[in-house]
Amino acid sequence: MESHKLEPPQSRYMPDVGTHEHDQDVLCGLCESPMDVAFNRFGPRSSAAAMAASGKTGPEANKWKRHYDQYECPFINEDWHHQASMLYREAEATASAKLAGALIEEAIDLIHTKVATKKRGYEVTPT
Ligand SMILES: [Zn+2]
Repeated sequence: MESHKLEPPQSRYMPDVGTHEHDQDVLCGLCESPMDVAFNRFGPRSSAAAMAASGKTGPEANKWKRHYDQYECPFINEDWHHQASMLYREAEATASAKLAGALIEEAIDLIHTKVATKKRGYEVTPT
């Protein structure tokens, strides 16, 4: 079976039904794991579409919904996966090639060890 690797750091992929082949594995753009797939889902594909559809019914709500297939990395909710994804995004955002290199290097380490080295978000120090 052929496989298709997404571009890093993409770890979720929601193409419209009928726009892509089903006969290949899709691999996570971050950790290269084969992605879990749910075919022919129906609903909003983004948080913006979900907000637009909320409170509406029938055709008014349905115009914000699509038939789509959902591919998702089985590790998408793991802390190390989230941290690696954030590092890739920061590497893309920075104008510094040196910083980007260091960020990508750290992301690759996380993907190999599967252990987060920093907690999500920030910790509030009680005063
Ligand atoms: Zn992954």
